[in-house]
Amino acid sequence: MPTGEIARMFIHGKCHCGNISFSLTWEPDPAEIPARACTCSFCTKHGGVWTSNPSGSLEVAVKDPSLVSKYAFGTRTAEFHICARCGVVPVVTSRIDDHLYAVVSVNAFEGVDPSLFRRVSASFDGEGEESRLARRKHNWIADVEYIEIGTCPSIERTATGKPVAAAHVKP
Ligand SMILES: [Zn+2]
Repeated sequence: MPTGEIARMFIHGKCHCGNISFSLTWEPDPAEIPARACTCSFCTKHGGVWTSNPSGSLEVAVKDPSLVSKYAFGTRTAEFHICARCGVVPVVTSRIDDHLYAVVSVNAFEGVDPSLFRRVSASFDGEGEESRLARRKHNWIADVEYIEIGTCPSIERTATGKPVAAAHVKP
């Protein structure tokens, strides 16, 4: 690594079939990654374990938006992005004051050493809507880019059929 550059970690994740994928840049390189096992009624049923870094940047790429089911319940302030093809839930987003925040599922990570995970149980039941949104603004990833490849005409495909955007790596 060149001198003067801050060590950062690139985390890649995706649903099982690859329709929803994400790249999370974590800077500085984390010694541990909080992994919050959410105890809400939905996450209990699918085993949702989430992480976020408020100073991280996230790029979500969706190949076929028609195969993403967006599910909201309770206060309906968060959207679970469920792959309709394989059933995995890699990302949750919340739009607050017209800004998109997100958390990602550690279960969807690819090639990350699980010993980095610091597992905690998180219960937000009984939390009012206002404090819930304030917590997300404070803790969730605030730099989120959500790209729907299937609907973006400017994204060309390479000869291999792989979308160019999926190979895009931030400097
Ligand atoms: Zn999938």
